[in-house]
Amino acid sequence: MRSMIRIKRTFHLILTLAVMLTMAQGAWAVKVTKTETFYLDGGYSKKTQLQDNWTLLNENGLTLYYSNTNQSDYISQSSEYKKTKFQGNVDKNGAELIFNNLEGTVTKVELYNFLFYAEGIQMYVGKNNNATLMHLHGNNSDYDYPSDNNQTYNNKTATFESNGLDVSSSSPLKIMFSGSAVVGTLEFKGTITVTYEADVPADPQHTFTFNASGNTLTATCVNNGAGHECTLTNRQATLTLTADDVPYTGSYHNASYNLGEFMTTTGLSVTSGGIKYVNKDTGVERNTGPYEIGSYTARVTVTISSTDYTLTKDFNILAGYKVNNSYPQFSVSKTSALEGDEITITYTQQMDESLDELTLTGATSGNNIAYTQSGNTYTFTMPAEDVNLGATITYPLNEDNITQSGDTYTIKNAEGWDYFCQRMEVDGELDGFSGKTVELAANISVTTMAGTVHPFKGTFDGKGKTLTFNRIADAIYTAPFQNTDGATICNLHVEGTITGGNNSYLGGLVGSAEGNLTIRDCHVSTQISTTFDSNTLSANVGIGGFVGLLSSQYNQCHITGCVFDGLIYNPNYSGTTYGCGGFVGCFSEYGYAILEDCLFIEGQYDNNGSKRELLWGHDNNMNSTFFHRTNNQGSGKLTNCFFVATHFLKQGSPAVESTDAPANFAHFGDPTTDYGFLKVYGHTMVLDGKYYTPTYGDLVETYDYSGGKSYNIEYDDKPLGIPDITTPLWTSSLRYKRKFTAGKPVTVMLPFNFEPNDFRRGGEGDVLTGHFYEFKGIHLDPQTSKWTAVMNEVGSDDANEVTTMKANHPYLFVPTMSTVPHPYMNNLEYIYIEKYSDGISIFTQDNEGGNKVTQYDGSGESFRWNKWDFIGTYQPRYWSETEHFEEVGKVYGFAGLTKEVQGVYNNTITVEAGEFVRAKSGAKIRPTSCYLMWTGYEPDYAPARGMTRGAAADEDVPQSITVKLISANGETTAIGTLDTKTGEVTFDSEAWYTLDGVRLSGKPSSKGIYINNGKKVVIK
Ligand SMILES: [Zn+2]
Repeated sequence: MRSMIRIKRTFHLILTLAVMLTMAQGAWAVKVTKTETFYLDGGYSKKTQLQDNWTLLNENGLTLYYSNTNQSDYISQSSEYKKTKFQGNVDKNGAELIFNNLEGTVTKVELYNFLFYAEGIQMYVGKNNNATLMHLHGNNSDYDYPSDNNQTYNNKTATFESNGLDVSSSSPLKIMFSGSAVVGTLEFKGTITVTYEADVPADPQHTFTFNASGNTLTATCVNNGAGHECTLTNRQATLTLTADDVPYTGSYHNASYNLGEFMTTTGLSVTSGGIKYVNKDTGVERNTGPYEIGSYTARVTVTISSTDYTLTKDFNILAGYKVNNSYPQFSVSKTSALEGDEITITYTQQMDESLDELTLTGATSGNNIAYTQSGNTYTFTMPAEDVNLGATITYPLNEDNITQSGDTYTIKNAEGWDYFCQRMEVDGELDGFSGKTVELAANISVTTMAGTVHPFKGTFDGKGKTLTFNRIADAIYTAPFQNTDGATICNLHVEGTITGGNNSYLGGLVGSAEGNLTIRDCHVSTQISTTFDSNTLSANVGIGGFVGLLSSQYNQCHITGCVFDGLIYNPNYSGTTYGCGGFVGCFSEYGYAILEDCLFIEGQYDNNGSKRELLWGHDNNMNSTFFHRTNNQGSGKLTNCFFVATHFLKQGSPAVESTDAPANFAHFGDPTTDYGFLKVYGHTMVLDGKYYTPTYGDLVETYDYSGGKSYNIEYDDKPLGIPDITTPLWTSSLRYKRKFTAGKPVTVMLPFNFEPNDFRRGGEGDVLTGHFYEFKGIHLDPQTSKWTAVMNEVGSDDANEVTTMKANHPYLFVPTMSTVPHPYMNNLEYIYIEKYSDGISIFTQDNEGGNKVTQYDGSGESFRWNKWDFIGTYQPRYWSETEHFEEVGKVYGFAGLTKEVQGVYNNTITVEAGEFVRAKSGAKIRPTSCYLMWTGYEPDYAPARGMTRGAAADEDVPQSITVKLISANGETTAIGTLDTKTGEVTFDSEAWYTLDGVRLSGKPSSKGIYINNGKKVVIK
């Protein structure tokens, strides 16, 4: 619609010109030096007014037209602040200020009291080509007036001069702009003054009478004097307020009037308060044209010699009908039209496709709509309904570049990638390859972006190949996939460079993601540069190693098994760019990212060279390791994600890179997940022959998405062990991730002091209850000949006990049986401590030859057999032909199940569940568990010698050892065994024991108190 208004204005100008030419020919003229001023004070002085949203009109009828490419960038006025602003980014919207009816020879243009902000753009004045530019005052060879970062008005002046620049409406004087800045603000509280020499007609000596009627003011010249040759047609000039009915397009619709023409034609001085618009239904009046559907009256009051004349014009913005067109090949002459309007459709071939047929169908009736064709132009008359544009278009496929088989496309080279991108852009019916799979069959190097017009909606399977993507960013969201909507991208390695300049939301893989986005098994090595100055612009740049902007609300981004080892840097300045994320650069308000098994390896900055650091992350508006949250918008979840050498806000867990496998890697077996590029073994990752392990092994330092630190002790089947920690690590939050079953004892040793009440249940809020037992010794019952390990409860039996459990000390722990049936309580995934005030200090004392061992020998107790150690370990412990073989036969772990074992005389012995059992070759124990070891007969405690004893004494070592738990008040409460593999104790529900630990053959019939299934039972 706006283009229509512009056409109309041009028509008025031509009319003006015609009149002036007539005058110039018919009357004599004199050459005078004139100054014309536009008062850019928001209309406050009433000396300059808005003719329409893009045109200023001064008191002498001169116009200044604001030309730009953006519908919403018009001239805004604030009378209150005496401010006139040329809206939008003047360098990016292609702005020009055009003095479109100024005629004469310009010598000076002066701008006073304005803002020209921010640094990086220039203003110059002249006509279209460089040879006609005016120079800056005081410098004959400098034409560019630079912007600055000053945001306060300070009576700034810019003066452009020339020896004489001839301008006219066909070759007008302009203020123009070049360069690039993120904001390009031009705003005045002052003036623009043009000095020029002009031919002006002598006083035409008209004498007028006036008649205002409807939308027209008629001035009739009544000077009948002999000396007056009236140059006016029929001795009349008219001022007409014009506003047509238009269909709704969402654009502003303005009335216009030919005030400038009227003033120059009549020589009259006319002032005006500008056009007002009244909604006829609501009565609401406003100063700018409406865009909403409705009926309006435009009104303007002009003043001539203190007399007011008011003109009015009614007009409507009607619903109109649309042509629904999703083909970029077709352009439609009107986006909205009224019934009976003639519509023109133009076809332009976009690639090598051919148009077979065009169909136009009534959107409601389904009727075919007739059209006429002339070459690539189709014309029809708009019916009283919307029209659907359909087409049959054939796209030939060059099978050297890309092949298609059903719904699968295979890209074979760079030309095939370009075809993929272009086809998605121009083929609206393909709908971004929705439901299709696109595969990459070769390593290729490209510069074209996919998803520029239609977002990519399909599955892209890189098949392990490398896409090298090099591009100088010319827009936001620059990435191999600029826009996606519900896409899946997998098995792809991306490398190359993105030279980002001042553009936001760049991504190593995806620029902007709508809908859900799934990325798995991808590896991005791209180096992304940015010159975005966040300090000056007070803004985040939002660059992500994988995704620039996760832009769709309530949708999720899943990134799994992925690696970023590229770099995001600034080539010019350190510490000036913020708002980047190693994986995701920015979130919309409710965006959610789920990252699992991902690795961030930061590239090398060269601060003396061309790769300078971003601003270090210390809050959410800085830079973040995995995902950056602008103003805390968006959230997410990180599971098993690691980083190496981050300068960003820490998220995930720090890892150590090594070319050597970790100590126990040979025991790990198959990967937990083989992602192709990345192989994950629990908390160890392997990429390109390098190993990435948590800094503290099974004690994993972890930062949540907002950078909050905690520690997780991982008790899994790929144990790394916990290294020696002599300088305590402080934390307010710690999880021990081990599966617990209420009532089922486990051996445990932890690297910090704690009280039992510190622990809480994972998945529950309540305090974990349970009992900790210390090893007291091994007892051989002379009557039963049963070996029994005696465990005494620590502290008192008082419910309020505050006994501190010692760090690095082996215990047996029995979680209390749940009284409330609840799945979480009987199968706890983890227990945790949160102490935000005091915190927890983690330390392991000394590291003993790589195997952290804490022994407890029951010294000082009155047990007959004291030559036993209860040993807790922070390293995984394996017993085999090659590892700790000398300990085989002397080491005991709990048996989880009743089983047959080989006795020392090659006889078969049944080990009951509920007993310690001698570990054989192949046994293992995980870190933070404990085991029993026989240390020999020597009167003095000497574990080293005990371990190296001769085999003969082994005959005296029992095959199994019953466990007896003694509560704080001295009662036997439970008996069980510990699993050699899991370190967990189970109770055989069929087994019955006396309180002395003697196993019975079945459920007893005699009265008394017995132990069954881990608790006391009274038989009456
Ligand atoms: Zn006259």
